[in-house]
Amino acid sequence: MKKARKVFLDAAKIKAKDAGHTQRIDFNMGKYHHKVAVGKQQFEDLAKAKQAAKAIKKEALDNLPALLMEFESKMQANGGEVIWAEDSKQALDAIYTIVKQQAATTIVKSKSMITEEIELNEQLQKWGMEVLETDLGEFIVQTKGEKPYHIVTPAMHLSKGDIAQLFNTKFDTPLDYSPEELTHFVRLRLREQFAKADIGISGGNFLVADTGSVVLVTNEGNARLTTTLPKVHIAIVGIEKMIARLADLEIMLPVLSTFGTGQQLTVYNTILSGGKRNKEVDGVEKMYVILLDNGRSTMLADEKLQEALQCIRCGSCLNNCPVYQTIGGHTYGSPYSGPIGAVISPHLGIAPKGNYNHLSEASSLCGSCSENCPVGIDLHGLLLHNRTLAEPTMIEQMLWSSWKYGVLNRELMNSPAFLKNTLGNLFFGKSWGAERTFPIFDKKSFQQQWLERQRGQEK
Ligand code: SF4
Repeated sequence: MKKARKVFLDAAKIKAKDAGHTQRIDFNMGKYHHKVAVGKQQFEDLAKAKQAAKAIKKEALDNLPALLMEFESKMQANGGEVIWAEDSKQALDAIYTIVKQQAATTIVKSKSMITEEIELNEQLQKWGMEVLETDLGEFIVQTKGEKPYHIVTPAMHLSKGDIAQLFNTKFDTPLDYSPEELTHFVRLRLREQFAKADIGISGGNFLVADTGSVVLVTNEGNARLTTTLPKVHIAIVGIEKMIARLADLEIMLPVLSTFGTGQQLTVYNTILSGGKRNKEVDGVEKMYVILLDNGRSTMLADEKLQEALQCIRCGSCLNNCPVYQTIGGHTYGSPYSGPIGAVISPHLGIAPKGNYNHLSEASSLCGSCSENCPVGIDLHGLLLHNRTLAEPTMIEQMLWSSWKYGVLNRELMNSPAFLKNTLGNLFFGKSWGAERTFPIFDKKSFQQQWLERQRGQEK
C-alpha cells in the first residue's frame, strides 16, 4: 500500500496540471474574493470585529467544561436529550440506537462536515437506511459519488455544464437546463423526501450555553426543513462549537457569513432549543444533541494547538491558500482541507483513521491563511507546530542530520561548487520537482564572497 504522503503528492501533481480544474477554481474564487471585499464593508472597524469574534471563541474554550455542563442542563430543560460521545464509534452507536428505536428507514441530512468526519452516510447505508443530502452542493456531490470538495461550498470544483451533464446522466433532465431549472428540479425532488423522512440529521454552527441551543446557518432553508419536518432531529456537533451567550451571535453570525460567502448575513439563521413544546404544532417530537470530542479535548490540552479550536469553519483560509487553489480539496484526503484541515486533521479521529501529518508540509508558509482568518488563528504558526509534533522517519532524520553536519562544517561549505551541486541534486533534486530548476551553488563560497566584500569596504 502506498504511503499517505506519496498518495497525496501523486494526486497533487495530477491536479496541479489540470488546466480545467485551475480555470473553474480561479473563476469561483474570483467571485468569492469580490463578494467578500464588498461584504467586509458592513463593518465599521473590521479589525475590532475580528478581535471580538476571537475573544468570544477564546472565552468559550477557556471555560469549556462549565459551558458544556450549562448547555446540557439548559437543553434538557428545553426537552432535548444530550449524548456525550468520546469518539466516532460512540457517536455512531448512539445514532444507531435512535435509528432502531424509531424503526427509521429514510433520513434527510443538512450539510455537516462532522458527519463526514465520522463517515456517517456510509454507516447509515450499511444499516440499510436511505440517506439524502439536502444542501444543493452536497446533493450534487452525493449524486456524483464524491466527497465534499470544500467545507463551505462542496461542489465548487464543478461548472454549470458539469452539473447539467451529471443530472442528465442520473435523472435524465435536459442537457440545456439552466442553473435555475436544475435547482428547481432538485427542490421538487427534495420536498418529497422531507415529507417522508423519519429522522433529520444536522451538524451545528454554534452551541449556545446560556439558552441550550444549536444554531444552524444555511442559504437554502434546507436545514429548517431537515430539523422540523421529520419526527426526530439529531444534531451532531463538535464540543468546540460552544459560545457562552446567545448575544454573542450578534458578532459571530455576520463575521461567519462575510468571511464564508461575502454576505452581510446568511439567509437562514436557525436557533433550535429542543423539540416542540406541549401546545405547539410545528417542530420535531424529539431533539437529540450528540456532543462529539473525537480528539478535541487532547487539542485543547496543547497550549498552542487549542487555538485551532476557535475555527468557525468559514472556509476563508482555503480560499486564500495558494496550495489549496492549486491542488484542490479532494487531494487532502480529509474532510477538512486547506490550512485548517492540515492543522486539525492529524489530531481528530477521522474515519477511516489515516495519517495526515504530511499535510502540514503542504504550505508555502506565506501567512495568507492567518491574515484572512476572521478569528485570527495563527494557522501558519500551527502548521510549523504540527511539523515539530510529527515523528520524523528514519530517512528524514538521516537527511536532516547530514544537512546539519554539512552547514555547520566550514570546510564542507567551502568545498568546490561542483561537489555541492552534485550532492544537492542527488539528495534534494527529486523533491525539488521536475518542473523547477534546482538552485545552483555559486562558484565562490559564502565565506569567500563575504571576505571579498569586507576587503572592498576597507579599501
Ligand atoms: S481557520 Fe479561520 S479562516 Fe480557516 S475556516 Fe477556520 S475560521 Fe475560517
